[in-house]
Amino acid sequence: MNDTGLLIVLSGFSGSGKGTIMNRLLSRYPEQYALSVSATTRQPRAGETEGKEYFFKTKEEFLRMIEQNELLEYAQYVDNYYGTPKTYVKEQLEAHKNVILEIEIQGALKIREQFPETLLLFVTPPSAEVLKNRLTGRGTESEEVIHSRLVRAVEEADGCEVYDYLVINDDLDACVEEVHHIILSERSRMERRLSTIETIKNQLKQYVKGEK
Ligand code: ADP
Ligand code: 5GP
Repeated sequence: MNDTGLLIVLSGFSGSGKGTIMNRLLSRYPEQYALSVSATTRQPRAGETEGKEYFFKTKEEFLRMIEQNELLEYAQYVDNYYGTPKTYVKEQLEAHKNVILEIEIQGALKIREQFPETLLLFVTPPSAEVLKNRLTGRGTESEEVIHSRLVRAVEEADGCEVYDYLVINDDLDACVEEVHHIILSERSRMERRLSTIETIKNQLKQYVKGEK
């Protein structure tokens, strides 16, 4: 481990506000974060653009990406495939950014297997009623798809104890600040800063020896 960027997974029920939180976090702290853009076989929603929210793929293209080992992880979610392209994540971590993957729970577990130091955050609205209202209010899915996503939310509620933090998205600004502070605190953990302390120790030794 070293003092470079953290790999962070943000998951949460559909409609819990993940995308909204990420947009605000990135616009507030653009130097510190990089958001991984996933590939998906789902259709773009109104207002979504290629390469910003997702790389939109046909099923054949997506299967080819799997075959050619271009994805860090992938999963199926309510009839579609979603996956994280490898290259960008690696480049941004090397550039010392905190890289955020906004992915569902199966993908989160696969990421943690490969990178055990990954920070896992789970976001929820304050109640089921608020979730349903946000999903309906977004106006991007049919009643049927909203129902499937709520069914999936029940399953996800069962699996989310493996996450490190649960963040409640009630007031958006407060939630964005909470996410930012959790990430900053995690970066300060002793085990992530061992290389800093090693450097200081070596400098101290030189002082003690009278070399400086
Ligand atoms: P997700 O990416 O988790 O599916 P979105 O970010 O699309 O969720 O949010 C779902 C809907 O809820 C959007 O219409 C968004 O504007 C709204 N929303 C998100 N966070 C809040 C909040 N704290 N208060 C009120 N509305 C919110
Ligand atoms: P949506 O269709 O609402 O954009 O996303 C549906 C679900 O897929 C969300 O839970 C989202 O976090 C998840 N998701 C998005 N990209 C990826 C990905 O690359 N991998 C995995 N495993 N899940 C993803």
